Amino acid sequence: MHLLLVEDERKVASFIARSLRENLYTVDVAESGEKALDLVGRAVYDLILLDIRLPNLSGVEVCREIRDADIETPVLMLTARSLVEQRVEGLDAGADDYLTKPFALAELHARIRALIRRGFHRGGPKLRAADLELDRPRRTVKRGADPIQLTFKEFALLELLMVRSPDAVQRSEIIEHVWSHSFDTDTNIVEVYINRLRQKIDQEQQVKLIHTVRGTGYRLGLPGGER
Ligand code: CA
Repeated sequence: MHLLLVEDERKVASFIARSLRENLYTVDVAESGEKALDLVGRAVYDLILLDIRLPNLSGVEVCREIRDADIETPVLMLTARSLVEQRVEGLDAGADDYLTKPFALAELHARIRALIRRGFHRGGPKLRAADLELDRPRRTVKRGADPIQLTFKEFALLELLMVRSPDAVQRSEIIEHVWSHSFDTDTNIVEVYINRLRQKIDQEQQVKLIHTVRGTGYRLGLPGGER
């Protein structure tokens, strides 16, 4: 696994890089957005850890340039505490997930594993199942010709189901990927969000795409199970 860490604060960068290397990742460090873009143009990374606050080019601008260059490497954005707009801006620019500073290294490693497991390299920028299409960099969804407006969590849930289609995804896995490891699993949050997705995607359609798999979780695809 080859990771790129973009962080201008030397101490923070070396601390994170050391921890990643201890976990057997190969790590390149870029101390500026310009350097990051240069490296991304020359090497293929499995994941990019991108600090949002950089001198000159911001993390958001770097992320946008990476996506404009059709590079689909997963981006984990490192953002400042409580700045919701910053996170939204990062996700809009094509980041896959964000982590708020300061964070525990265990949390960072968990997010990295989740992003890698999510298989963001597979499927390409556009995911399709039947007449449903999800555009990852643009974060748009449409069924047939009809655009569907989703919230970030709804989008993340649908994306996970589409990446794994036509296989089922376990409820516990949905919670881990879409919410977090520490999330209270006794709540019916997954059911609530599945219902919302059904209303937006399936309700007015003859062919339903979201299916409950008894005892397991959910599956997205045609009723027969084919893609
Ligand atoms: Ca910084």
